Amino acid sequence: MIRTERIDVAVIGGGPAGMAAASASRQAGAARVVLIERDPRLGGILNQCIHDGFGTKVFKEALTGPEFAGIYARKLKESGVETWLESTVIGFSPDRVLTICSRKGITRLETGAVVLAMGCRERSRGAIGISGTRPAGIYTAGAVQAYMNLRNIAVGRRFVILGSGDVGLIMARRLSLEGAEVVCVAEILPYPSGLARNVVQCLEDFGIPLYLNTTVVEIHGNSRVTGVTLAEVEPGGKMKRGSRRRVVCDTLMLSVGLIPENELSARAGVKLSPVTRGPVVDDSFQTSIPGVFACGNVLQVHDLVDYATLEAEKAGQSAARYSQAQVLPAANIPVEAGAGIRYVLPALVSGQEAVDFTMRVTAPSRERAIVFTDGTKEIRRLQQQVLAPAAMARVRLNRGRFDGAKKLVVEVAD
Ligand SMILES: Cc1cc2nc3c(=O)[nH]c(=O)nc-3n(C[C@H](O)[C@H](O)[C@H](O)COP(=O)(O)OP(=O)(O)OC[C@H]3O[C@@H](n4cnc5c(N)ncnc54)[C@H](O)[C@@H]3O)c2cc1C
Repeated sequence: MIRTERIDVAVIGGGPAGMAAASASRQAGAARVVLIERDPRLGGILNQCIHDGFGTKVFKEALTGPEFAGIYARKLKESGVETWLESTVIGFSPDRVLTICSRKGITRLETGAVVLAMGCRERSRGAIGISGTRPAGIYTAGAVQAYMNLRNIAVGRRFVILGSGDVGLIMARRLSLEGAEVVCVAEILPYPSGLARNVVQCLEDFGIPLYLNTTVVEIHGNSRVTGVTLAEVEPGGKMKRGSRRRVVCDTLMLSVGLIPENELSARAGVKLSPVTRGPVVDDSFQTSIPGVFACGNVLQVHDLVDYATLEAEKAGQSAARYSQAQVLPAANIPVEAGAGIRYVLPALVSGQEAVDFTMRVTAPSRERAIVFTDGTKEIRRLQQQVLAPAAMARVRLNRGRFDGAKKLVVEVAD
């Protein structure tokens, strides 16, 4: 039998973003808030991140992932949010009715508002298409991290890492500390895709070489990986002649990007950005479906969890307001990514409140500025010493800055 319940706000996902959104929703007056998490415990990806570096912006200290998650789990409990663990949302409709599968069976949850906080997943071998055999010994960095940090299992002894994303860099250090050998990190781009601090602390401090403009073109081995062939890549994507070289390893670890987990959102008809692969949102974090909000890694891949939780609090407050039939400011000023900006969020603003814009640039540069215009007139200029695609830039525009603007354009300029 299908059980039906009616609540004010449902939050899908019990990672840091979901926990922050749910607590903020309750604090903003939503009477019955339910957080739904498919795992047996709260915390999301942070449970396996036992390194420190979390909370430097919000708490001004470097916490481990579980410590950071613990703070939000306590807040959640104190705020009176109901937590449904081992419960998976398998669908939701544009009128905000969720279908949830758990040991109790199927629940139909009618909601006043929904917050999407499902996080993201890793890109796998299939997504990047490397030729060669299909032996054991090919893992994503997150999978190696989960085996090592949650189950105490080492999946290999001699690693080649493809991709210089933050998860791979963190794992290069972790594997070295546990006695494995990390032969090298190969990155197809001309610059690292992880944060500069992780390149220094996780590779340089451990003497692990980072080969830029380099990729894995072939995997060797039958039952188990025995090696990979690396090759240099020229601008334009062609392999450099004579640059192929075989490297012996028993494990290939992939750290080639994260994809926001939006299958549910897409099925419900939420408009997704082809660039971020997350929902298109306004400055209340409302998606194209009224009353459905998004935050955290499901919205955009964050570099720092602090920013994921800050935006989640805003999304949770907006959801509470919507569920109480309060009118959210109409967002009708479009925001465009101009020269040098890969994407900017939110995509629409009301101009009635201050907005924290988040964005990523297309290429690294030094001593340049992030500039906001209304298409012709400059509204705000923020000088930057270093801009890098790996680091999310964040710029606040106060209310008065939007006066009369019909659109906003953000670009990198001299
Ligand atoms: C390896 C690694 C290292 C990192 N290191 C740092 C660092 O040093 N410092 C830092 O600040 N940040 C770091 N980050 C980034 C930070 O962890 C993320 O920004 C943050 O975890 C995103 O939170 P989230 O809640 O959006 O997603 P997640 O933590 O991924 O949580 C999403 C949750 O949603 C649940 N879920 C998904 N779909 C459903 C469904 N249909 N039904 C029910 N539940 C569902 C999942 O089970 C999961 O628990 C790191 C990330 C990784 C992966």
